[in-house]
Amino acid sequence: MEDCIFCKIINKQIPSEIIYEDDEIIAFKDIQPVAPVHVLVVPKKHISSVMDLKEEDKALIGKIYSVIQKLAVELGVEKEGFRVVTNCGENAGQTVKHIHFHILGGKKLALTM
Ligand code: AMP
Ligand code: ZN
Repeated sequence: MEDCIFCKIINKQIPSEIIYEDDEIIAFKDIQPVAPVHVLVVPKKHISSVMDLKEEDKALIGKIYSVIQKLAVELGVEKEGFRVVTNCGENAGQTVKHIHFHILGGKKLALTM
């Protein structure tokens, strides 16, 4: 989708530190990390938010969690733990309107609300 920063990353129109890629999913380092490990796992299909997921996307979401599991091991956070975050909409502070899954770890994470 035009004017979507994550679509531009997916299409290699802007650079990013990609750590995983297959035909449906990409993962790259967050440009403004809030934890020692901060990676974004993103479906290549442009889906704006959790509220735009369709029945047909169920398998894709399952695959995203398989990638998250694999990356957690590669990033070395699987034993100490990590957080997976998907912000949806204004109150959650979603800034990029292309659904994504933050992997946060590498330190004790505070619960901020
Ligand atoms: P959210 O607030 O949940 O929508 O998260 C969007 C995330 O995308 C933020 O953590 C940003 O730091 C990150 N971000 C924005 N632009 C880029 C970029 N060009 N490369 C990597 N991460 C980005
Ligand atoms: Zn997009």
